[in-house]
Amino acid sequence: MEIIKVYGNGNPAFVYVAKIGDNENHLIELVESKDPYRNEKDKYVFNISTQIGCPVGCKMCDTGKKYYRNLSTYEILEEISFLLNRKYPDGRINTKKFKIHFARMGEPALNNNVLDVLVKLPNIIKRPFIPCIATTAPRNCKKFFNELLGIKNSIYTGGYFQLQFSINSTDESTRDKLMPIDKFSLEEISDFGEKWFRERDRKMDLNFACSTDSEIDIDILKNIFDPKKFLVKLTPINETFSSKENDLVSLFEYDNNTIAENIAKDLRKYGFEVIISISTPEELENHSSCGQAVLNYNISKSRFVYVEE
Ligand code: SF4
Repeated sequence: MEIIKVYGNGNPAFVYVAKIGDNENHLIELVESKDPYRNEKDKYVFNISTQIGCPVGCKMCDTGKKYYRNLSTYEILEEISFLLNRKYPDGRINTKKFKIHFARMGEPALNNNVLDVLVKLPNIIKRPFIPCIATTAPRNCKKFFNELLGIKNSIYTGGYFQLQFSINSTDESTRDKLMPIDKFSLEEISDFGEKWFRERDRKMDLNFACSTDSEIDIDILKNIFDPKKFLVKLTPINETFSSKENDLVSLFEYDNNTIAENIAKDLRKYGFEVIISISTPEELENHSSCGQAVLNYNISKSRFVYVEE
């Protein structure tokens, strides 16, 4: 892996573009960031890629323009080692909450090497940390999710694992348009969540990247999901090449999130914990959405983007 471009100044993030092997098109992104509103001694996050490109093709995401292949166990661990050596060269991870998100380029559930990485990581990071898997929940990945459940229950107990489902709409046909892959329905996600959740586990996230097309029906959410096991996270649609191309308009903005606050208020009446997560202007400037850094790198080099092999 060779780092070929860095965006940002660490406040709040560094976004790295890395080349894997010799193929000029095999570019991935990895990110290290602090919470813009907290000290990095309180929380620090690594966000890594699991695939080169992504076969899912979500309508708001620049990663899904092209898919090359899964990253190997070694390549994923190399991303983590790079970030560890850069941020914590003396090996002391001096932050209270340390998270590793498998949520940059790629659908992690489509890569079984992610499971292998999760098993190996505690031998590399010898202190508590929280891995986070963000997924569209592809239907053909039941085996992956069952194995993930076993790994969580044996290695990452007591709240040291985060599972996030990209929901994006409570209307299944809109979900299909936004995330064009055969995937678990909302009921199936809920059923899996019932199997997943144990006392002291972190709640699973139901993530909504909120466009004006997204339906967020509170009755559907409260009838299907248990607020003791699931929380709701609302984010705006960031302006990406893909979101513009697909005419996705954000339901709310950085400087005006009244709509999100109103949805949150209604959901909280039914016991749901709600997080409204909005990228700061600095994060947006530094390509906070997945696929953006690689795309911008290619554009800056005037290279034909996503060349067919
Ligand atoms: S949002 Fe995730 S699953 Fe969807 S295309 Fe982007 S990387 Fe793939």
